[in-house]
Amino acid sequence: KAVFRTEGLTKIYGSGDVEVRALNGVDVTLYESEMVVLLGPSGSGKSTFLNIVGGLDTPTSGTVHFRDRELTAYSERQLTRYRRDHVGFVFQFYNLIPSLTAWENVALVTEVARDPMTPDEALALVDLSDRMSHFPAQMSGGEQQRVAIARAIAKRPEVLLCDEPTGALDSKTGILVLEALARINNELGTSTAIITHNATIQEIAHRVIFFIDGKISEVKTNETRIRPS
Ligand code: ADP
Ligand code: ADP
Repeated sequence: KAVFRTEGLTKIYGSGDVEVRALNGVDVTLYESEMVVLLGPSGSGKSTFLNIVGGLDTPTSGTVHFRDRELTAYSERQLTRYRRDHVGFVFQFYNLIPSLTAWENVALVTEVARDPMTPDEALALVDLSDRMSHFPAQMSGGEQQRVAIARAIAKRPEVLLCDEPTGALDSKTGILVLEALARINNELGTSTAIITHNATIQEIAHRVIFFIDGKISEVKTNETRIRPS
């Protein structure tokens, strides 16, 4: 069953001589409980794709359906609600509030969500039960990113969108973060799309989607997905 589906997704920035076709007719379906990774050179359209699917940006043409709803027909107000209720975001930088503990950073989200887990549950899922009362400055980059992931999943989003979550981490720490995402995908069944350059991801994702010049050049299905412990 599809969670979202794009058809002919096209995004053009600028106009005339400075026109950039960031996306040029992209058709992608993300299924329930699926974990996909988006790979491709810098500038190939991956972030633009993720931002549109997450309701942070709108396409020039083409459509996005989220379940049976057409996202591309939503008003600003509906998009705001879609982002709040249905989507979790993780970015390269963690954007934690420095004056709040890990637990309090996650609680900011759980206090306003409709059907949240507790901050304790969310932090346990990323293996940070022993860091709940630490402040961001007392944690490593990988731990801070895992707090950011706990914050993103605490509202039980249907879709988790991660734009270079390992971009600021060394590769070993990056692997721990990707494994946390895979474990969440297994345990909660959250459909997950990840942009990363970390090669390990190809073993833990169900599908790898390659972008080149705003188009999809290849889709590889991973039959032997390694299940993280
Ligand atoms: P990727 O994530 O694969 O690196 P992006 O989606 O960030 O690719 O960018 C795709 C293309 O769109 C690039 O040529 C980039 O320079 C351009 N682009 C992205 N965002 C903007 C913007 N806000 N204004 C103008 N051009 C943009
Ligand atoms: P409004 O409540 O403004 O009349 P809608 O009923 O179309 O507009 O939906 C508003 C919001 O409710 C959407 O932005 C979406 O986040 C959410 N929503 C509720 N049910 C669904 C569903 N089955 N599929 C997708 N989104 C839904």
